[in-house]
Amino acid sequence: MERAPGAYRILNSENLPALLAGMEDVRALLGGRPEDWRVREVGDGNLNLVFIVEGAGGSVCVKQALPYVRAAGPSWPMSPQRAFFENAYFTAVAPHVDGLIPRVYRYEPLLYCTVMERLSPHIILRQGLIAGRRYANVARDIGDYVARATFFTSDLAWPFERKMDGIALFAGNKALIRITVDLVFADPYRQSERNRHTSPQLDAVVADLRRDGPLKAAAARFGQKFLSDLQALVHGDLHSGSIMVTEQDSRVIDPEFACYGPIGFDLGAFLGNLLLNWYSQPGHASADDDRSAYQRWILEQARTFWEAFRGRFLALWAEHGKGDAFPAAMFGAGDAAALQSARSEFVDSLFADMLGFGACKMIRRIQGFAHVIDFEQIRDADTRAGCEARALALARLLLTHPRQFRSIDDLIDAVPRVAAEERPRKR
Ligand code: ADP
Ligand code: MG
Repeated sequence: MERAPGAYRILNSENLPALLAGMEDVRALLGGRPEDWRVREVGDGNLNLVFIVEGAGGSVCVKQALPYVRAAGPSWPMSPQRAFFENAYFTAVAPHVDGLIPRVYRYEPLLYCTVMERLSPHIILRQGLIAGRRYANVARDIGDYVARATFFTSDLAWPFERKMDGIALFAGNKALIRITVDLVFADPYRQSERNRHTSPQLDAVVADLRRDGPLKAAAARFGQKFLSDLQALVHGDLHSGSIMVTEQDSRVIDPEFACYGPIGFDLGAFLGNLLLNWYSQPGHASADDDRSAYQRWILEQARTFWEAFRGRFLALWAEHGKGDAFPAAMFGAGDAAALQSARSEFVDSLFADMLGFGACKMIRRIQGFAHVIDFEQIRDADTRAGCEARALALARLLLTHPRQFRSIDDLIDAVPRVAAEERPRKR
């Protein structure tokens, strides 16, 4: 039977040029003849197809959601609806995050496919961090990004009706929210077939963590917060693999996990992945570079990130605080100090959330389903396990002793201290 022309089909290098040739603006951008366009599949993620299409005049990136999990194949079905939410997120934040996301040229609802700006010569930040490269702007850019994207989708910026419409829309992203709920907040803390860790080196550490009641209670509280504290529209997967960079430019990609949730969830994703990278560095050291200077740079980025976020969020609140939360009209000149301190208390609560969610993210990448190449690329299992054990020790401390972390300095002091204290264990 003939398929309707726009109906869902899995894209490939044969059928993609014809699709793009039908989009006038994209065709003009690519230039030359469609039969000469070069198509490459470059997806490295778990879920989707990603193509780069190059023509004589330019290039585009095409991302399509499959009706199953790419990494698993058709035996793990999953609705391609996630592409819709990725596009809805880009659309919602685009007016506020100026230049920090790729330009979207087209979204094809029936194909669950986005045609967007091809970022080049950008690379994935995680790759750059593993290689020990420095990006002068990325921490400030992403701090700024999270502040803008979350402030302008919160009750601080607009009448609540607008946020409720957003909540209703993104409530449809249940399949991906389910993944977060299971893979971030539940599976790592119990026996599950989807988990793995460096074994046998980490067996004892992991077993010990899974018996730590107070730690599990803390992680569960963050899991509950993720589901119930709908502060703003969050990206939902803002780790260093969802950021592409050049030395000057930073872009956020891959918001398919977008939903309303706690602002600290995005903050924690970025911070937690910086910290994972810090702990992985001994595994990437070479004879002429022990990576200790680079580790110091990473911790400076943690500070820059937090301070950029905090500064921008408070500035936006002062200038654009026209929402239903903390209505400006309620506070007069005489109450300015009370309002100020309420604002800074709120931002302090985001700091605490960032650390807690960051710790959950760290744990799940070491003893859950999806790991990070920062550790996976360390070939020697003993070295890798040592790095992972030190990262886990920090994450445990963050979750079980949050009062030790009142400021970013407290965190920056603790990271190397915990590494020094956590001696490699005997098997
Ligand atoms: P997934 O949802 O499957 O994880 P991503 O959106 O993370 O897919 O994209 C997978 C890979 O494709 C990225 O790691 C990056 O290398 C490449 N990529 C994604 N978007 C772009 C883009 N706009 N320009 C260039 N490369 C991109
Ligand atoms: Mg993805």
